[in-house]
Amino acid sequence: MKEQIIEKIKDFDKIIIHRHVRPDPDALGSQGGLAEILKATFPQKSIYVVGEEEPSLTFMNRMDTIEDDVYKGALVIICDTANEARISDTRYTLGDYIIKIDHHPNEDKYGDMIWVDTEASSVSEMIYEFYLYGRDNHSFKLTDKGAELLYTGIVGDTGRFLFPNATEKTMKFAGELRNYDFDLSAVYNEMYKVSLSLARLNGYVLSHFQYVDPGVGYIYLTKEVMEEFNTTPSESSLLVNTFSNVEGLKTWVFFVEEPDQIRVRLRSKGPIVNTIAAKYNGGGHPMASGATVHTIKETEQIIQDLIEACKETN
Ligand code: AMP
Repeated sequence: MKEQIIEKIKDFDKIIIHRHVRPDPDALGSQGGLAEILKATFPQKSIYVVGEEEPSLTFMNRMDTIEDDVYKGALVIICDTANEARISDTRYTLGDYIIKIDHHPNEDKYGDMIWVDTEASSVSEMIYEFYLYGRDNHSFKLTDKGAELLYTGIVGDTGRFLFPNATEKTMKFAGELRNYDFDLSAVYNEMYKVSLSLARLNGYVLSHFQYVDPGVGYIYLTKEVMEEFNTTPSESSLLVNTFSNVEGLKTWVFFVEEPDQIRVRLRSKGPIVNTIAAKYNGGGHPMASGATVHTIKETEQIIQDLIEACKETN
């Protein structure tokens, strides 16, 4: 598969790299890391990264602004995006050929070529593996900035190597990336800094989340609460793991009111939650998934589903 992707890359002079909406470090790290590799290896090609920016992550890299006609005759590569609906910048359809590179279950098989590895901790890890293959067989190059982006993506999706998706391979790759010249302290400072407002909201979440037997935690953040703490829905969503270490907790859900919908973030230490997310038109990983709902009744149903899922794993 890596060889076929490289053949396609060689065929095109223009390559536009996309990733999912509401980008996280792995979306930006895999997208930007791949762009760095391709720019360094093929300086004569035009390589672009597109999509909306997330203000808290602009320290990683910035997006290109391109006109629609750049897509004519272009190869489009989409990183870290399980389903078409979540691709940031819908112009990806204007390209000549689409490659999907992802580590989520391949339920929405979009694109002309697909490389999915659900064993990979992150797409950044896949891109580094892709680079190693390219280096050994096609003289691929990786810049310090590219290594920084891939490292940041791996750190993001493994929760600083805390989650079980961090395998021996993940650690090995991270170790190799660490040998490149970038300021790791600066990266961590940027990744994990919180505003005073968010720190205060964290306190609110810790004291107001509900626990229901046999192991479900949940909180519903209303517009009013976020206004009181002066935080946005996307910032507030970052607190999803804030009570994850509470004894007895098996699965938890974070509901965040957005202007016209309720964002649902599901997390688990055992019960499968992506099947529950799928019931509400969502999806994701077995232990980390999400959905969007519109009524309080649906949020109550999700809590009930989680209780049932916990009972089943007892
Ligand atoms: P999040 O809670 O936004 O970090 O999402 C966790 C995982 O669930 C992500 O990796 C996404 O693949 C998936 N996910 C989140 N929201 C949705 C959604 N509305 N539809 C499908 N998948 C989603």
